[in-house]
Amino acid sequence: MSQLKLPAANKVTLANREKIIVDLKAICPGEAVISHNSEMRAFESDGLTAYRQMPLVVVLPETVDQVSQILKYCHDNEIRVVPRGAGTSLSGGALPLQDGVLLGLGKFNKILEVDYDNRCVVAEPGVTNLGISHAVESEGFYYAPDPSSQIACSIGGNIAENSGGVHSLKYGLTTNNVLGLEVVLITGEVVQIGGKHMEAEGYDLLGLMTGSEGLLGVVTKVTVRILRKPETARALLIGFPSSEDAGQCVADVISDGIIAAGMEMMDKYAIHAADDFVQAGYPRDVDALLIVELDGPEVEVDILIDKV
Ligand SMILES: Cc1cc2nc3c(=O)[nH]c(=O)nc-3n(C[C@H](O)[C@H](O)[C@H](O)COP(=O)(O)OP(=O)(O)OC[C@H]3O[C@@H](n4cnc5c(N)ncnc54)[C@H](O)[C@@H]3O)c2cc1C
Repeated sequence: MSQLKLPAANKVTLANREKIIVDLKAICPGEAVISHNSEMRAFESDGLTAYRQMPLVVVLPETVDQVSQILKYCHDNEIRVVPRGAGTSLSGGALPLQDGVLLGLGKFNKILEVDYDNRCVVAEPGVTNLGISHAVESEGFYYAPDPSSQIACSIGGNIAENSGGVHSLKYGLTTNNVLGLEVVLITGEVVQIGGKHMEAEGYDLLGLMTGSEGLLGVVTKVTVRILRKPETARALLIGFPSSEDAGQCVADVISDGIIAAGMEMMDKYAIHAADDFVQAGYPRDVDALLIVELDGPEVEVDILIDKV
């Protein structure tokens, strides 16, 4: 693997570490500033564990005002900042910088509002992806983008990475499901983007923020749309003599106008590895498997299953 080239550390920042820690403690009193190596170890990498690096210091703010003050302080003193949600990123997005403040959003973990009339949820960025669905499941709703890390990853991280999952084929990625954001800019300014509706007027700032990997600001509030759970969902498991045949089937299903809730393909090696591990009972005499999930009203799903 080629080595990731990190920017050279700012020597002035490194030399001022003790003062920076004192200043950050003034903004975030109590135990919100973590500076001992043994305690910072938990933050040294994200899901891309091939790369590790200790941050200058870790700060875990609790309020938007604290986030604003931290960013303004870092901006005024030319200190780098890396926001962090749950740290499951597979692209090194939350990898600390040696001369950077690691800004953990884990304490922003509350659902602020469930608005069934407008079919949306307002949440703090540290709420897990699955936490949003859990908050509305009793009324038959859910949040559609479903990264396989959804039990752990935060909605703030989802915004920054424009995350998606199996069901994004039909229901879209994060960018198709986010309605509004509160963002703190590096200057400390707090801005509101969008609201509780789709397609706000003006420039597509929501689109700009979604997928920006924490480089444009820190998300402190998220409004996402929720959907009614489909009446039914059923999956087909289809075996093929080759991966090419399975791929052609995907193309045929899509070109026939069928939008499956999800489609996933496994080649021979994936089938055998998964079956060895969980004994799922997959057929072992095929070279490829396609799992096609169809959802919607019962009658529609019956027809679509026959067509597929
Ligand atoms: C087992 C596993 C399975 C996965 N499956 C999928 C999958 O199916 N689909 C998928 O898309 N991804 C998947 N991922 C990747 C990862 O879970 C997603 O990218 C997720 O959105 C990251 O969220 P996080 O809270 O962990 O963010 P982090 O890893 O903490 O951060 C990710 C990026 O977001 C930024 N960030 C975090 N919070 C904020 C904030 N509040 N404001 C501004 N920037 C912020 C960080 O700076 C960083 O650049 C998987 C990861 C693992 C480990």
